[in-house]
Amino acid sequence: MASDVVTMDKIVALCKRRGFVFPASEIYGGIANTYDYGHYGVLLLQNVKAEWWKAMLQDRDDVVALDSAIIQHPKVWQSSGHLDGFSDPLVQCLGRCKKRFRLDHLQEAAVEAGEDPALVVCPNCGGELSEPREFNLMFKTQIGTVEESASTVYLRPETAQGIFVDFKQVLAISRKKPPFGIAQIGKSFRNEITPGNFIFRTLEFEQMEMEFFVPPSESTEWYEHWKQQRFDWYTKLGVRADHLRLRPHDEDELSHYSSRTADVEYLFPIGWSELEGVADRGDFDLTQHSKGAKTKIEVYDEATKERYVPHVIEPAAGVGRATLAFLVDAYDEEEVEGDVRTVLRLHPRLAPIKVAVFPLVKKDGQPELAKEIRDTLRRVGQTEYDESGAIGKRYRRQDEIGTPWCVTVDHQTLEDRTVTVRDRDSLEQTRVPIDELVALFAGRLAQDWVSPKPQD
Ligand code: ATP
Repeated sequence: MASDVVTMDKIVALCKRRGFVFPASEIYGGIANTYDYGHYGVLLLQNVKAEWWKAMLQDRDDVVALDSAIIQHPKVWQSSGHLDGFSDPLVQCLGRCKKRFRLDHLQEAAVEAGEDPALVVCPNCGGELSEPREFNLMFKTQIGTVEESASTVYLRPETAQGIFVDFKQVLAISRKKPPFGIAQIGKSFRNEITPGNFIFRTLEFEQMEMEFFVPPSESTEWYEHWKQQRFDWYTKLGVRADHLRLRPHDEDELSHYSSRTADVEYLFPIGWSELEGVADRGDFDLTQHSKGAKTKIEVYDEATKERYVPHVIEPAAGVGRATLAFLVDAYDEEEVEGDVRTVLRLHPRLAPIKVAVFPLVKKDGQPELAKEIRDTLRRVGQTEYDESGAIGKRYRRQDEIGTPWCVTVDHQTLEDRTVTVRDRDSLEQTRVPIDELVALFAGRLAQDWVSPKPQD
């Protein structure tokens, strides 16, 4: 089994070929850093989000859910510091290519390569770089007519602020007290004008953010807890541990709101890059909104009989970026009977299609029985029925979209009501009674799973 055969180009090509992800507005030439998700892409995204919700809600008792508005009161962004501080240091190549880059990214890459970050040049053509210019990433729009300056609003650049401004409301109705968290998944928008590397960095993207409110004295304990939880979430979903790391931020990398942050990083084909950040936001946000909205945002501690402002530990992840990591980590090629087979070794719970059902031939009642079996298997998860072309081709197609199991109906099925179950990873084929299929697949989906791809 080949290990690191994956490149970004292969992932982009597979995503397009199988309709997971493709450039948006392509008939007009596309729009930079913007993609559409097709059928399998939508199913995969849904599964990633479902696993995140499960880890936050179903598997614990101290997190509640929220879905706040994308367009908030503009003062939210004033108080949060985004209007003044949410900017990137941009540099432009003064040489041949004139491309734009983020200075912080170029400097991080230089440090990683053991070079002097003060001497960075254009990574594309080696040209000299301009002085950095701060560039605010928030998209502006307006409510009402353009002339009314008072109606300027912003598309949220993170979902977190909706959680902070609703904190009082949630506290009053959720019957929770710190330590507890509020979780949200939703679209965020950033005016990213540097190269996006496919769905790694896009103008609009979904975030999975959870703000965990704690008594100040417990912040270190919970910071450690969430770093580990979030790292483990990826490995439990099959990402190889040696392609993941937790990297603490240096002092000069920290966001305006954070006293300490660690990134969960993945070894993408573009190098180690952030998958998600786990930040200690202290009492920054609640204090800012308390001042901005002129309202007390505090919690009463029964034990000390005192009021206090909770501190916040925040794991903030991107749905698209996590999905890219799952795709990259799952991608594999291997030689089977003289052919190269491309296979996505996705965790079965992430796989867009759980089971594909085929009749071996399109006659003798096989299609009818196969469709009947497919209908029974719907209760296990998303299924697909396919009767077109050679059986080998049908298997390859399912391999490429990561379907863990294929069920084939053949002439023997009509005699003894058994089918062939083919395993995507081992390629083993076993004979299983039709009546046992639901329990077999449901059981396997609930099991722990380890990627069969070798660790480097
Ligand atoms: P980066 O340094 O890569 O721009 P960031 O540190 O600004 O990321 P955060 O503000 O911590 O990112 O956002 C939390 C998570 O949201 C990121 O770890 C990433 O997974 C996701 N994310 C942020 N910006 C984008 C984007 N433009 N496209 C896709 N995902 C994003």
